[in-house]
Amino acid sequence: MSVRVRYAPSPTGSPHVGNLRTAIYNWLFARKHDGKFLVRLEDTDRSPERYQPEGIWDIEESLRYLGVCPDEWWVSGGEAGPYIQSERLALYKQHSEQLIESGHAYKCYCSKERLEAMRQAQQERGVPTGYDRNCREPERRENMRLQRMQELGGEPPFVVRLAMPMEGKTTVHDLVKGEIVYENRGQDDQVLLKTDGYPTYFLACVVDDHLMGVTHVIRGDDWLSSAAKFMAVINAFGWEAPKLVHPPLILGPDRKKLSKRHGATQFTEFIEQGYLPEALFNFLVLLGWSTGEENKELLTIPEILDRFSLEGISEHPAIFDYEKLKWMNGQYIRRSPVGRILGLCLPYLVKAGLVSDPPTREEREYARRIIPLEIERMKTLSEVVELTRPFFQNIQYPQDYDAKAVAKWMGAAHVPRMLQMEIEQFALLPAFSAAELEESVRAVAAQLEVKFAEVIHPTRVAVTGRTVGPGLFEALEGLGRERTIGRLKQVQEKI
Ligand code: GLU
Repeated sequence: MSVRVRYAPSPTGSPHVGNLRTAIYNWLFARKHDGKFLVRLEDTDRSPERYQPEGIWDIEESLRYLGVCPDEWWVSGGEAGPYIQSERLALYKQHSEQLIESGHAYKCYCSKERLEAMRQAQQERGVPTGYDRNCREPERRENMRLQRMQELGGEPPFVVRLAMPMEGKTTVHDLVKGEIVYENRGQDDQVLLKTDGYPTYFLACVVDDHLMGVTHVIRGDDWLSSAAKFMAVINAFGWEAPKLVHPPLILGPDRKKLSKRHGATQFTEFIEQGYLPEALFNFLVLLGWSTGEENKELLTIPEILDRFSLEGISEHPAIFDYEKLKWMNGQYIRRSPVGRILGLCLPYLVKAGLVSDPPTREEREYARRIIPLEIERMKTLSEVVELTRPFFQNIQYPQDYDAKAVAKWMGAAHVPRMLQMEIEQFALLPAFSAAELEESVRAVAAQLEVKFAEVIHPTRVAVTGRTVGPGLFEALEGLGRERTIGRLKQVQEKI
C-alpha cells in the first residue's frame, strides 16, 4: 500500500507555525516513502471568525515558501479531488444519509433555544454539558419534528448527529503516544451535518481521509482529545482507520502554549521578518522531532530527508525558542550565496524607502557593495534596513547622529584637524580602496600624534553617525569617495 498523507488546513487566517510543522512532517513522510502529499482545504466552518478567505492565499504562500509542494491539491487538482471541502457537500450529505440508514446517526430537530436552555441548566447543576439525546429515540424525535413544524409552519431544519456508543471503550492507536483508551460513556452525540448542509470536522475529515485513500494522519496534538469521536465515526462507517500520529504541542519559552503573547506565531510573519525557508524548515522540524544525534542542529533539507522517521517524533512538548531561530537564520544567511541574500534584501530597502521603487541601476550597484558588508551581522533579512540605513540615507549632523557617539568622540581637540587632513588626503587617493584608506588614516594618526583608535572612532562617527558597523575602511570604500568626503565636510562645517 503506498503512502498517502495530507495536510488539512482551515482558512482561519494566516496559518500558525505549528500547522506548518505538521505540513513538513507530512511532506517528509511522503517523500521518504515515495508516497503522495495531499493538501485539502477544510473550509466547512463558515462562521466569520473561522472563515477568512485571504487565509487561503497565506496557506499557499507558506507551503511554496517552504518548498513542501503538494502532489495533489486545489491548485493542481488530482485523482481524489476536489480538494476544497465546500465543493464536496454532496458527498457529505450522502455519507450522512448512509449513517442514518445503518442506524449510526440520526436527525435531530431540537431548536437552538432548547439546546441553549439545556446547556444552561447543566451548567447550573455543575454537570458536564452535552446533548441529552432527545432525538435519538424515534418516537421523541417524531414528536419534536411535529412540534417544530407547527412552530415554523413547514418542514423544520435538522442536524445529523452521530449515535455515539454509550458503553464500552474506543481505542485510539497513536504511533507516537501509543494506545489511548477512551470511555464511550460521557461522550457527546457529535453533530456531523449542520442545518446549513455543511458538515462538521468529524464527518468531513473522516469521509475525505477515506475517499482520498489517506494512510497516515499526522495532525496537531490538539486533535488528540477528540480522537475518540474521530474513531467512532470511522467505526460507524466500518472503515479501516488510517494510522494516527499527533506530534507534540509547541510551547513558548515560558512553557505555556505558544501564542501571540510570545511573539510572532503566524507563518507569514516569519516570512515578512526575513527568515529563510531552509532555516524555518530546519527549526520547525526540530520542534518535536530529533535525529538522536547530539549537537546536530543545523541540518539541510536533504540531511533531514535522509534521517526522517516517525519514530523520531517526541511525546514531549517542544519549546519555541525565538533566539535559537534567529541564530539559525543567521547561520543560513551566511551560508547562502551572496547574490541570493542581495536579491532577498532589496525589497526591504525598497519598502523602507531607502532605494527607489524599483531600484535604479546605480542603486542596485550601490546595494551590491553595501549589503555584503553587513551580512556577517544579519540575523533576519529585515534587519538589513537598520544595519545599512546610514549608507543609504542622507544623514545630517548632529540630529541624525547617535548623540552618545557624538559626545564621546567628536569633542576631542584633534578632531577638527583630523577632518581637514582626511578631506584633503582622501581626495588624492588613487583607488579609494580599503587598503589605501587604512594607510591614509594611519598616516593621519601619526601626523596628529594620537592613537590609531582616536582617529578610527571619530572618523566612523563622522561618516556613519554611529560607533558600530562593518570594518571602517570597507565601509568607507563602500560609501565611495564622494559620499565620504561630503559627510566629513558637513561635520567640519557644523562642528
Ligand atoms: N482542519 C483542521 C485544522 O486546521 C485539520 C485537522 C486535521 O489535520 O485533521 O486544524
